[in-house]
Amino acid sequence: METSSRIQRRVAVFGLDGVTFDLLQPWLDEGRLPNLAALLQGGAHGRLRSTIPPVSASAWASFSTGTNPGQHGLVDFTYPVEDGYEIQITNGRTRAVPALWDIVSGAGGQAGVISMPMTYPPQPLNGFMLCSFLTPSQESQYTYPASLQAEVTQIAGPFPLHMSEKGRGQDPRIFVRAVKQMEVDRAAAVKYLLQNKSWDLFLYVFETTDNLQHEVWHLLDNSHPLYDADMAELVVPEILDYYETVDRLLGEMLALVPEDVLIVTLSDHGFGPFHKFFHINNWLAAKGWLQFKRTPVSQLKRWAFQLGMTPINALKWITALRLGGMRKNVKRGRGGKTLRRVFLSFNDVDWARTSAFSVGNFGQVYLNVAGKRRQGTVSSAEYEGLRDEIATAAMALVDPEDGSQVVPTVYKREEVFHGRSASRLPDLVLHTDRAKYVSFGHADFGSNQIIEPSTGQTGHHHMVGITGLRGPGVPAGVVLPEASLLDLAPTILHYMGLPVPKYMDGRVLTEAFSDAFNAANPVQFHDVDLTGGAGSGGVSVEEEALVMEKLRDLGYVA
Ligand SMILES: [Zn+2]
Repeated sequence: METSSRIQRRVAVFGLDGVTFDLLQPWLDEGRLPNLAALLQGGAHGRLRSTIPPVSASAWASFSTGTNPGQHGLVDFTYPVEDGYEIQITNGRTRAVPALWDIVSGAGGQAGVISMPMTYPPQPLNGFMLCSFLTPSQESQYTYPASLQAEVTQIAGPFPLHMSEKGRGQDPRIFVRAVKQMEVDRAAAVKYLLQNKSWDLFLYVFETTDNLQHEVWHLLDNSHPLYDADMAELVVPEILDYYETVDRLLGEMLALVPEDVLIVTLSDHGFGPFHKFFHINNWLAAKGWLQFKRTPVSQLKRWAFQLGMTPINALKWITALRLGGMRKNVKRGRGGKTLRRVFLSFNDVDWARTSAFSVGNFGQVYLNVAGKRRQGTVSSAEYEGLRDEIATAAMALVDPEDGSQVVPTVYKREEVFHGRSASRLPDLVLHTDRAKYVSFGHADFGSNQIIEPSTGQTGHHHMVGITGLRGPGVPAGVVLPEASLLDLAPTILHYMGLPVPKYMDGRVLTEAFSDAFNAANPVQFHDVDLTGGAGSGGVSVEEEALVMEKLRDLGYVA
């Protein structure tokens, strides 16, 4: 494992998707997670602020690029096309800014990237890449170089690309055991690659922490409306066993990392209780900002919708009647065209009379701007007034059940997004922050309610995650002031001896390093022009359909 000329020091990153000190601290204190505890205490650690909105697609891209979503362009798993209303899926090609591994690779270093969300399709680099989350199918080409796929399979067995469906929504014990097994199976491949390939930068993301927390948060939180003491007694030991297993696997990986390597750990966002859906498109329709077509079919569907013929209700009825097979089809939106024919959908929206709509799980609202979208209605003279009106109304919205404020903060686009991709990002973000209220799905009209108890997931993303750095030059026991997810890319490049591109929004976390290290290593900057376009592509229509199905299975899309 030779170090290339321009790389001075090596870095290994271990991501823990969506973990939070709120959940982990008691277990860290009790000594149940000894490897993570030693990693955090043996160097610098602290809380890590995510992107707005704190969605994995956007947050991992911000980690990878050191830039805000206005630069890299990812704001959720789905987004509307810039000039219309069709929904597109984000993938590795959507990112409009080079990732850490591109920069390291360009500097002659070798990078290994495993299970980093939003990397499919794998792209050539000096090193290797193995994609998982949102890889269309086990038959897809998910590694670079292509030969790595067979090599890893032969040594470590088939790399499990997708989250298990076992027990999901039925027996949480079975689900927890299945995701634990997935991490065990993945770890075999990760350890093989750590040990047998050359790398200057190594990245692996434990993805299942996020999925598990979405499913079982109510069993860990006795103030959750769906808390079930009997079930918690059965399942919490299994959940603990899962986290102890993740910690053990992390320890086995760390044991394979040489002493002179900086180890970085992070979560892309925090986590917390999710209580209710906030159906933003229904709210926009109730306020008159979204209008439906007056055709007989659309009017009939709207009438049925008002009576409760909605995908969420259909799911409840089917579940009650124990029509299991059908349940999966509705949940997955199989034959989306059929569902759209039956239920009220974006197909029934009268765009020529609509001024705002939402696409995404995190309060993303897009205005129907004239001259930008095909049937745009909002003139430049009306734009600011309408944004203010929607923002004021959103912040005035209270949950009729307990009077709590649903949207404590509204961000205008330019307050949170700036850069080359900002113009295609939402005009407003209705930020619910503490995750109690989360919007449902990425389009269409899942329910006829504006606010209603959640079904399925019980935990969701919060703004604050964790980070830790341990290695030569990092004194033990440093507690960092709350850092930003955007700070890690510049910090990692700087540690490796590379200049920080000036376009990066984050800063080098010099407070993590010793005075001697900082004195010997002043931060260098590099003026880089971001050229080349952003955009989708690289995946076929069939692959997009498979990815959409994966997102539905995970509950991200209606
Ligand atoms: Zn995440």
